[in-house]
Amino acid sequence: MVLILFGAPGCGKGTQGVRLSERFGIPSVSTGDMLRGAVRNGTGLGRRAKAYMDAGGLVPDDVMLGLIRERLSAEDARRGFILDGFPRTIAQAEGLDRVLAEKSLAIDRVIDLVVGRETLIRRLTSRRVCSKCGVVFNVVTAPPPPKGPCGDPAVGCAGEYVQQRADDTRETVARRLAVYDESTAPLVAHYRKRALLAEVDGDAPPAEVFERIVALVA
Ligand code: AMP
Repeated sequence: MVLILFGAPGCGKGTQGVRLSERFGIPSVSTGDMLRGAVRNGTGLGRRAKAYMDAGGLVPDDVMLGLIRERLSAEDARRGFILDGFPRTIAQAEGLDRVLAEKSLAIDRVIDLVVGRETLIRRLTSRRVCSKCGVVFNVVTAPPPPKGPCGDPAVGCAGEYVQQRADDTRETVARRLAVYDESTAPLVAHYRKRALLAEVDGDAPPAEVFERIVALVA
């Protein structure tokens, strides 16, 4: 199965990607997570991507296509995958089609998680992430424990790694949403024309959103 999770920053793609990956036994491929890992590890890719990410812009298409081509060639992606945060431009969507054709795979569904603008801004600016174990918190609705661990005790975090993402500040969030409107939102029409798009209300509680997606793809 090839599933694309689509929607503006803060719509819940990451949360649903993890759950769907567990349910269907295929990897959730988050290009944002891959890039943040590259930045953390100081790789060439990370050094190239950091300035774009910090500014809330998009990493160039050729870089992203190289990254996704390599990731989708891994053994665990042979039976399919869930894409979270890719494609984000028409050029990326066209590149993805080429990669899929080489693997004799095709997109089954594009799930558009629809969330109102005010909610997106509120979610993003109140989001906090443990940079060690990856667990996501929200200072309003799901605050981090005062003394960790956040998630798996084996990871060994104790609250000290919980941070605001550099691009979750109010100013950068505004820029990311503008970039979404300009470069990414046109993909809605692109996939609707191909009868692949399904809209899901991303304002609903995460467990409900999950069941609705499962019903659409099972
Ligand atoms: P995300 O975690 O998906 O919100 O991604 C964080 C940042 O990584 C984005 O604001 C972009 O700078 C970069 N990024 C992630 N995925 C892509 C992509 N498909 N194309 C270009 N830039 C991306």
